[in-house]
Amino acid sequence: MIRVIALRRMSIVIFVLLTLTHFGLAQNAEARAADSRAPKMSYLLVGRLFDATGDNIRENVVITIEGERIKNVASAGEVKIPSGANVIDLSQATVLPGLIDCHTHLGARADRYNELYNFKDTPFDHAFAGVINARKTLEAGFTSVRDVGSDPFLAVDLRNSINEGYLIGPRIVASGPAISITGGHGDLNNFSPQTRVMMFPEERDFSIADSVDQIRHIVRAQEKYGVDVIKILATGGVLSKGDSPGAAQYTFEELKAAADTAHMGGRKIAAHAHGTEGIKNAIRAGVDSIEHASLIDDEGIRLAKEHGTYLVMDIYNDDYILNEAPKYGLPTEKLDKERMVGRLQRENFRKALQAGVKMAFGTDAGVYPHGDNARQFFYMVKFGMTPAQAIHAATSNAADLIGRSKDVGTIEPGKYADIIAVNADPLSDVRALEHVDFVMKSGVIYKDARAPGSGSTRN
Ligand SMILES: [Zn+2]
Repeated sequence: MIRVIALRRMSIVIFVLLTLTHFGLAQNAEARAADSRAPKMSYLLVGRLFDATGDNIRENVVITIEGERIKNVASAGEVKIPSGANVIDLSQATVLPGLIDCHTHLGARADRYNELYNFKDTPFDHAFAGVINARKTLEAGFTSVRDVGSDPFLAVDLRNSINEGYLIGPRIVASGPAISITGGHGDLNNFSPQTRVMMFPEERDFSIADSVDQIRHIVRAQEKYGVDVIKILATGGVLSKGDSPGAAQYTFEELKAAADTAHMGGRKIAAHAHGTEGIKNAIRAGVDSIEHASLIDDEGIRLAKEHGTYLVMDIYNDDYILNEAPKYGLPTEKLDKERMVGRLQRENFRKALQAGVKMAFGTDAGVYPHGDNARQFFYMVKFGMTPAQAIHAATSNAADLIGRSKDVGTIEPGKYADIIAVNADPLSDVRALEHVDFVMKSGVIYKDARAPGSGSTRN
């Protein structure tokens, strides 16, 4: 009997090894295929360029791309394009850096508001959704996202598969599950105590932590499994049962332990916070961004400015939650909570902006359908930003918040060739960004919906 088990074990080991080797080869081949799609040198003829290094538009520019990075950005007259070169003609378009959404949930679907899905959905359902949503997000012009809350460790795996070239999607700065108190925004509340949905009970799904020590452990455990960023829930939320968005859900000491441990591990930390006290606790604790910030007051705004904390205010999705989510079974309790905070959040966005607080673009994609991310630009402008400010929030500022300014966020030599183009002028109507015609990531074109014949290879 023992020998049978031993043999069986060995064959499992061999099977696993073979499978790993097989997938390894397949993925390398995919990665090579993706690489060969990227021409060695390409020349983008740009009609109008907003490179996000400032507020200006430059006209008639050539962007030279070598492999996956930008080599040169210069006036058309200064660049000699060799004959036979790969030329992409965007002379009729406005070209911008790839957009960045700092608050997505790629594994979430916006048609799953019925509470039954808490028990019907499997981690695989979320992973399948993630594959589809990653592609939609990239095709909408978002070449990078910070994904802040999913099953353990969906965003990490999705990030890795995209980086290997096995799946198509944006660059992902991945968090693990959002860290929550027992009974908080990240817990499953108000069902029978006999009910439990957990994948890793011994780790409380790398999500539930109730003390300084438990928080330190969960942050370290998440880092062990490869997260880039920590997400903690400092107050109650809208789309959870039995808690109040305005109520603080961690003490200052607990938030400080989270921020210090994250920073010690070289990670940034994002704090979900709607409520006034929770926002201030999190800023004082040293988090890098406040997500939502719905009920921020004057003191919170002053603190955010003083500490250089980014606000990531998701001011589009209120429309979707109020108008569409009820059709998909959103319970009345959650609808009422959105009515409490949604409109106030928009007014407080205006206040924080006027005070000069740092703002980065984040939408809570997954609450509304992925791919509609750019709809938020309209609201950012409606509530006080210039179109250029709104674009900076989703490019240069977002890159700064996610710690990737060296690689993305502007169109400059040395950065990844993450480039989008739109037909209309986003500086006069920011809604132009809702229709991105051309998407390039790392020098590879993933979408080209311009009129046929508008692109060419110069021979
Ligand atoms: Zn969220």
